[in-house]
Amino acid sequence: MTLFEKLRSHDIAELRTTVEEYVEPSSGARHIHLLTDQADLAFLVAFPTVPHNSDGRAHILEHLALSGSQRYPVRNPFFSMMRRSTASFMNAMTYADRTVYPFATTDRNDFFNLLDVYLDATFFPTLDYLNFLQEGWRYTLEDGKLRYQGVVLNEMKGAFTNPLQALYNGITAQLLAGTTYAVVSGGDPLDIPALGYQALKDFHASHYHPSQALFMTAGAMPAAQVQQRIAERVLAQLPGNAPRRLPQLSTVASPRQHTIRVPAQADSASEHGVQSAWILGESADLTALHHAHLLQAGLLGDAAAPLRKALESAGYGRPARIIGMDANARQILFHLGMEGLTHEQLDDARALLQQTLEAVAQTGVPEAALQAALRDIVYQQRDTSGGRMPNILSRMLNAVPAVLRDGDAIDAFDSAAILAQLRRDIARPGFFQGLVRALLGNPARLDAHVLPDPDYFKDRAATEEQRLATIQAGMTPAQIERIGADNRALEELQRAPADATLLPRIRPADLDRQPKALPAVPETRDGKYVFSIASNGISSARMQFDISAMDEADWPWLKLYASLRDGLGVANMSFGQAGAWRRSQVAQFDIGVQPLLDSAGALRLSMNFYASALREDHAQIAAVLDTYVGQPRFDEQARIRFLVELMLRQRRSSLAQEGDRQAHLAASAPLSPLRAFEDASEGAAYSTFLAHLQAQMATEEGYQAVIDRLASLHESLVQCPATVLLAGSGDDAQALAALFKVTPAQDAPARHSTISGKRAALALYAPSQVNHCHIAWKAPDMQHTDAPALAVAAELFQHQFLHQALRERGGAYGGSASYAEGAGTFTMQSYRDPRLGATYADFAEAVERMLDRPFTQEQLEEAIVSAIKKLDHPAAPFAAVLAAWLLHQRGIGTAARQQFRSGVLACTIDDVRQAVARWLTDASASRAASVGNLAQDLAGLDVLDLAASLGAEVQHSA
Ligand SMILES: [Zn+2]
Repeated sequence: MTLFEKLRSHDIAELRTTVEEYVEPSSGARHIHLLTDQADLAFLVAFPTVPHNSDGRAHILEHLALSGSQRYPVRNPFFSMMRRSTASFMNAMTYADRTVYPFATTDRNDFFNLLDVYLDATFFPTLDYLNFLQEGWRYTLEDGKLRYQGVVLNEMKGAFTNPLQALYNGITAQLLAGTTYAVVSGGDPLDIPALGYQALKDFHASHYHPSQALFMTAGAMPAAQVQQRIAERVLAQLPGNAPRRLPQLSTVASPRQHTIRVPAQADSASEHGVQSAWILGESADLTALHHAHLLQAGLLGDAAAPLRKALESAGYGRPARIIGMDANARQILFHLGMEGLTHEQLDDARALLQQTLEAVAQTGVPEAALQAALRDIVYQQRDTSGGRMPNILSRMLNAVPAVLRDGDAIDAFDSAAILAQLRRDIARPGFFQGLVRALLGNPARLDAHVLPDPDYFKDRAATEEQRLATIQAGMTPAQIERIGADNRALEELQRAPADATLLPRIRPADLDRQPKALPAVPETRDGKYVFSIASNGISSARMQFDISAMDEADWPWLKLYASLRDGLGVANMSFGQAGAWRRSQVAQFDIGVQPLLDSAGALRLSMNFYASALREDHAQIAAVLDTYVGQPRFDEQARIRFLVELMLRQRRSSLAQEGDRQAHLAASAPLSPLRAFEDASEGAAYSTFLAHLQAQMATEEGYQAVIDRLASLHESLVQCPATVLLAGSGDDAQALAALFKVTPAQDAPARHSTISGKRAALALYAPSQVNHCHIAWKAPDMQHTDAPALAVAAELFQHQFLHQALRERGGAYGGSASYAEGAGTFTMQSYRDPRLGATYADFAEAVERMLDRPFTQEQLEEAIVSAIKKLDHPAAPFAAVLAAWLLHQRGIGTAARQQFRSGVLACTIDDVRQAVARWLTDASASRAASVGNLAQDLAGLDVLDLAASLGAEVQHSA
């Protein structure tokens, strides 16, 4: 019997966790277990994957590992388990130097079910040839022309539309030359077709062995239970031992210069950039890592930080988006740069960077800026929020790179030791100046000219085209026949009914009958809502103004107001002073507009001012919110012009990446007041608004009119009914509440916004190599009798039709359906899709077939489990407060939630068919797609050019 040996064990009081470190001596496999008393059970296995070229082998292997294994030789065990499990998180990720397979659930049976599937998938995948063709790449013949097809190929074509991806690849290719970080681990679409099937299998055998594996688990269970399963299932079958792979270190030791081409819009004369980067030491060395962190905080941490201030007030350009420290690689990189430059401004920008660094090397920065950075470390150590995944799992994922790169496993979870050292460091006179001097004297440096290339995609497409033509010209009839045979075999496999019955599953009968408990919203008459939560000593406050009564014409202005305010001054402080002051006071701050639909279908809007800090800093939370609500400033003319221009330019340079979201909003806006608000404040119309605004501000009167409008908007919104939400550990929120004064809210008049009801048929155009197709229908909220059936229908559509039609056969990265009861819409969508018209035909066919196709009881039960899983998504304590508050504002009580849940659990196929027939009729469908080129058949959609919606580019005068 194989046995893990315990190396160390360490308690972390703040996390109520014991970190245990184990190794299994015969293989060298490592296991880190976090023994906690929390409900979440989490697992991950990580392997160092260090490809030496950009053919995407690590990424394609990740996809194939999820496509069938020895014990579970079914077509799609991973996607099947998503609907047979109540996991709160399931995924697989390929990074530059590692591949990680994580999941989390709160159910014990589910944990061991998933553990079996994950262990088998990673160590014993079937790596079937046809799956390689589907997920990786293959040839197809379309109208007699040779083409490439494949899920990863299209996924990466989508990823390449991001100009930052090209820039980042350009930096690492130079500075980390000769290492795995110099290649594109996800795969360069032009290089992916160089990958052979056998090379992929060899890569698995060498990289996914127990000797390479790092296991991490968390939960209220002994480590031995997991270890026993790992030993039986994996170690007993795969003997042998090999040293664990470590990525190479770069040997670049003298300054380099280089030009990096990035995709750009046609009109890109002022989209040049300068970009510098340095190698700062190893990321597993915590001292080096945190010193890089402090360097970033001091130079760039707030609007008064010297380098950020210099770049933002240069009078030209803007700070680069790849900026500050970067621990993605085994060696830490530090990036600085400017973008939005004309060719003539490049030298000025380089000089500005250099001179500012030299000045800071003399003067240093205020110690308060560094203190704030240390306070953030304490805040993060206590923070219980987790975003998309449970907090404990995000801590595990954060610790993986340090452990795989031979760092200390316990330090990766507990920052106490390093914090004590950093406190001593920053107290040392000249400490920060020393960091800057070391940067200036560091020879491992790259200085790059970022060159905007409007022909970037055209050139890539032409290269692909040319290669395919050459290959096709040289093909023998037998080779062409082979392509046909492969595609026929694949199609047959894809059309065969998927049999998931071999896989373990959670059944509807195993699920809780009751809705997940949420914090109770207290009765109050003073406008203060106090919540006591398990926040681990972190307190939060949110001042909320009910601005539902404001006019539709104000919508884009509300968004503008919320986006500008945190970059402007307050009281007697300039924007720089205000930024530094706020950062010294609280760990988190945000101003935002939140839309919601109440149970009568009316749109309600609130403007929210949020701050969060350690419990010791209650007075600071109150001071920051009071100052931002009570003493705004709109008199910093150059700053306001700069920020508006920044927003416009960022929208201009991210048209293709924003296309998916914008198409979703454009399709749904005519059907939903909530989406109409979001479209007006995020979509193409908001781009046009910003472009007009910038033109208007070119004159002094125009500028004054904008300022007057913002100031009067502020006056009216702070007159609106106010409430304040307060949350903290124990009695903290109560104590915090005493520091706030609010005018209690009377019920504000909610407004029905007028929705046009006219269906959209739009093709939002921005150059790229993929499309995103959206279709939307109007749908009722969760209190309607059809609501549970629509929730189940979304799961059936996605798992029984769209995944197969759009991803497996169509080559799109994703195909899904969603019932957004809170927005009042039902949607289907494709993501990173090579097709357009055929995808819309598949949407229509899915609706038709839902009405007549038979389903098994098991398929229905899977859809029910998936729908319930979305309801039960575990929220971190403060997120649960916000969820409860949202339902309270919408007027949805526990009885309605209970009724909806019971409806989902009892849903029948007939219920689904009736709801689909009632709501998803073709005549009522609204369509919008983000399209990458206009040469394709646009399926009857009208073109809206996203670049044109941003107006002509305004040239700099500087
Ligand atoms: Zn992928």
